[in-house]
Amino acid sequence: MARLRAGFATGRTKPLAWRLGQLQALRTLLTEQADVLLAALRADLGKGPKEAYRTEIGFTLNELDHTVAHLAEWLAPRPAPVPKAFRPAEARVVRDPLGVVLVIAPWNYPLQLALTPLVGALAAGNAVVVKPSELAPATSAALARLLPRYLDPQAVAVVEGAVAETTALLEERFDHIFYTGNGTVGRIVMAAAARNLTPVTLELGGKSPVLVEPGVDLAATAERLVRGKFLNAGQTCVAPDYVLAIGDIAAALEEHLAAAVLAQYGQDPSADEEYGRIVNERHFDRLTGLLGEGRVVTGGVHDRATRYLAPTVLADVSPDAPVMQEEIFGPVLPVIGVPDLDAAIAFVNERDKPLALYAFTESARTKQRLAEETSSGALAFGLPVSHLAVPDLPFGGVGESGMGRYHGEYSIDTFSHTKAVLDKPLA
Ligand code: NAD
Repeated sequence: MARLRAGFATGRTKPLAWRLGQLQALRTLLTEQADVLLAALRADLGKGPKEAYRTEIGFTLNELDHTVAHLAEWLAPRPAPVPKAFRPAEARVVRDPLGVVLVIAPWNYPLQLALTPLVGALAAGNAVVVKPSELAPATSAALARLLPRYLDPQAVAVVEGAVAETTALLEERFDHIFYTGNGTVGRIVMAAAARNLTPVTLELGGKSPVLVEPGVDLAATAERLVRGKFLNAGQTCVAPDYVLAIGDIAAALEEHLAAAVLAQYGQDPSADEEYGRIVNERHFDRLTGLLGEGRVVTGGVHDRATRYLAPTVLADVSPDAPVMQEEIFGPVLPVIGVPDLDAAIAFVNERDKPLALYAFTESARTKQRLAEETSSGALAFGLPVSHLAVPDLPFGGVGESGMGRYHGEYSIDTFSHTKAVLDKPLA
């Protein structure tokens, strides 16, 4: 902390050239060390090389390149009109770095969710402490070894560790804390931040629903749901959590989902090198415990020794079943039938505000109703998960799914103080 505070105080992080230099250095790290990072992701989560590259390294590079391309424009002071009574005078809005920022990352995308906030924090001119997740130890170790080698050690540090180390970190006075993970720890982070009046961004999770209306192409719907749901073995914060099948389409949709799983992963998904594994035994036991209620349409096969759980679709699930009480965060997709759109909207609105709400519909009226009558971190039609790869869209939750947002220019907002400057000549 002392090193980073002193580093920030020198002003070294403020020039555009330093910021762009750090981003270029991070780009070099990701390119030169891609194989090392892919091996770490394989060790932690069984991630296949294609998926790991696309969702972790490639994703971060896209964010980084977008930031490099636009940073000068995002940092340019913005003139603000001055009311007549103050004239002659000039007013402008500038973005000031905050100071030393703490980024606490989770295990599920252990590289992307540590480095994408880092991109924004550095681009905004801050010094940064990165705390990777102890539940992805190989990636955590790789970040601890590599980041100080490529980035400015006066401005970037990695602290590895679990609860004790993070608790100690939270004793420090940061200028912003950016936390990604679950809401229970989110509350601990926010309480600790409150002691120092430190602003927080909380990127949390929750159950992201999918609404499917009658009349849509169920084969195409199922194919996209399967891709979004079983990515990273379902351990994705914006994964479709459950499906509300509207009207009488549940049985047909379940069949299409089973066919889509077969087409995507074959008869034995455990043999598909791109299909991931559950992060640890605790989560494995939690997930297999959720299979007790409902009818298994496809999947259900599991092996504790390798923490393999097949892509699983559950039918005849009661809203009271355990699988509907918590974020699933694994490869289990329950399908629940609801009579009509009103019932589907009521179902969503009776629960916590989700990180994402997805709908498959051909109806402009339905899209408008969902936009107006529901609240969620994001709303996406026809394609789950991918909205977070659109760099000009904000990414963040609302209510129980979090507070604050990042990606692209939204990261600059998050990691800056938006300062008012008024300049009136004396004469
Ligand atoms: P996790 O267990 O890795 O925890 C996240 C971080 O919190 C880790 O760095 C961990 O060391 C730290 N931590 C754990 N206990 C702590 C404590 N008592 N005090 C201080 N710090 C502590 O990850 P997780 O929480 O299991 O992650 C899964 C959750 O995160 C899901 O709910 C998921 O939806 C959500 N998530 C959200 C996003 C998003 O971008 N919104 C992305 C990924 C995951």
